Amino acid sequence: MSETLTDPRSLEVALGSRSYPIHIGPGLLGDPGRLTPYLAGQQVMIVTNETVAPLYLERCRAGLPAGLEVRELVLPDGEATKSLASVERIWDALLEAGFNRRCTLIALGGGVIGDMVGFAAACYQRGVAFIQVPTTLLAQVDSSVGGKTGVNHPLGKNMIGAFWQPRAVLVDTDTLATLPPRELSAGLAEVIKYGLIRDAEFLAWLEESMPALRALETPSLTRAIERSCALKAEIVAEDETEQGVRALLNLGHTFGHAIEAHQGYGIWLHGEAVGAGMLMAAELSARLGWLSAEQVARTRAIIEAAALPLTAPADMSAEDFLVRMRLDKKNINSRLRLILLRELGEACVHDATPPELLGDLLASFPR
Ligand code: NAD
Ligand code: MG
Repeated sequence: MSETLTDPRSLEVALGSRSYPIHIGPGLLGDPGRLTPYLAGQQVMIVTNETVAPLYLERCRAGLPAGLEVRELVLPDGEATKSLASVERIWDALLEAGFNRRCTLIALGGGVIGDMVGFAAACYQRGVAFIQVPTTLLAQVDSSVGGKTGVNHPLGKNMIGAFWQPRAVLVDTDTLATLPPRELSAGLAEVIKYGLIRDAEFLAWLEESMPALRALETPSLTRAIERSCALKAEIVAEDETEQGVRALLNLGHTFGHAIEAHQGYGIWLHGEAVGAGMLMAAELSARLGWLSAEQVARTRAIIEAAALPLTAPADMSAEDFLVRMRLDKKNINSRLRLILLRELGEACVHDATPPELLGDLLASFPR
């Protein structure tokens, strides 16, 4: 490859008049003027959390042009903050500051901040501009792209929300230096997912590059994030509101959500549950005759190389899985719809898995 991957890379999410760029590279956060083209007016509010603020708030502010009216709001860390109450705090701060319809919100943080700030922007004065500045790998490759915004309700995760696209996504790969290794692995689960569902060549590259990614080597990170975002952008451009192909992004997630719900959210990270879930999906695909034993072994090896779990929780029975899986949003007319693999690099939606095959897989999968 002749180009250097330490140069910033850019790609576009093609959604007509709502199209937007994703910029990826080291040092983008403090880069003066980088955000200027995406500001709707003079009023800017940076929303972040108590963990990210001391690390990156100053740098984010330094990247904004002089002369703007800039406010900051620092919320508590954690999934519990992704609530309507926090969104109200954002709206309160905007109204108290007298922010108008041409203000811009900047979401600086992981997926929790991104989802919540996006939703606050979608509703404030019927919709204002927002920019995603994701600082976790998961947010950089997944939640900041595609326009799904929202908050949790006491009766369900992500139950209140809207589709609202950002003006731009700014991915500074340097921010990953401070990310806890478990969070990095959780993000790698989603990266692996893109290879498994849609890009065998990328999957093969990931198999070679996993040590470099875990060592945070910038060129590899940039490439992994760029390809992941490109694959997600392609899918979102085809199916913005999840009527069809966007469902493929849920590979491993039906199993994974069952694990998260059974344990109570926050025991395993989402990406960890998805890691084990993707292996379950691969095993089931093999039982349907689609994947070979060798292909399942490759799937297991890459999940292991990313330091993700290869087993289901010890206290979770096959029936525990089934009870949760039957509640999955993808199911239609109570038929279980699963995302499975026809090939490595080719996913499909499948709603005709024989129940005995699934029951067998769930019972025999290692704990
Ligand atoms: P998160 O936002 O909770 O971040 C994980 C942890 O890392 C937090 O403690 C955070 O404060 C910390 N952190 C963030 N950046 C850091 C950095 N650079 N250095 C050190 N610590 C840092 O979790 P997440 O995994 O980023 O996102 C999960 C959320 O994203 C969930 O709420 C999920 O529902 C949502 N999500 C949304 C979509 C979507 O399409 N909108 C897709 C996937 C996930
Ligand atoms: Mg996910």
